[in-house]
Amino acid sequence: MKIAIMGAMPEEIAPILEIIGKYKTTEYAQNVYYEATYKGIELVIAHSKIGKVFSTLTASSMIQHFGCTKLLFSGVAGGINPSLKIGDLIVASKLSQYDLDITAFGHPIGFVPGGSVFIEADRELIALSKVVASELGKTVQEGIIATGDQFVHSAKIKKAIVENFNADALEMEGGSVGVVCNALNIPFFILRAISDTADTDASFSFDEFMESSAIISAQFVMKMVDKIVE
Ligand code: SAH
Repeated sequence: MKIAIMGAMPEEIAPILEIIGKYKTTEYAQNVYYEATYKGIELVIAHSKIGKVFSTLTASSMIQHFGCTKLLFSGVAGGINPSLKIGDLIVASKLSQYDLDITAFGHPIGFVPGGSVFIEADRELIALSKVVASELGKTVQEGIIATGDQFVHSAKIKKAIVENFNADALEMEGGSVGVVCNALNIPFFILRAISDTADTDASFSFDEFMESSAIISAQFVMKMVDKIVE
């Protein structure tokens, strides 16, 4: 088994590299990949850079070039569901691309022919996250994550995303990573800790809490890896 652990930004994978300690660095497709053996299994870790295109490239590379057979994403997100506070964890049950829009032709928002509005994450990994959460005495909320190529800092856009997708959180990579894993038959898991609530002050909240929330998510994902190894 070879597990891919992905983030979008350097801060999202730094805590993972710290836990792993020793790794080999490989450059591929203008990105850096960290390969390690951890507790007897192989890991490939990378931050993709922000957005759907870069995250698609990285997820594809981890699977097709590096041979990963499972993918865990760790990072931060903007909260939509008011029950999600800064630092809270959300695991995606399913994800959508909220900015994929050919509604002019009568299609639902988030849909293109040959695709689907939602991509479901792996149920076994979600179930495992619940076991890990209960062992750690932590709460991990399961919910819908909406992905798009913009940093949302507007109540109006948030409202539209809730109306269209009933989403609980939003970010910029999960939906595209899901499309890649689904097409290539790779079980995937998207975990995010809340850094902001996507409102007018989101960029300030993000700057203040991104690093601490990234650590919360990364540490949880490593507990998932420990559980998978068991
Ligand atoms: N401050 C960064 C840009 C961050 S973009 C810079 O200047 O380089 C936001 C990142 O965090 C994305 O990777 C996205 O997945 C996640 N994210 C957190 N809050 C978000 C929000 N409100 N809207 C969209 N993405 C958000």
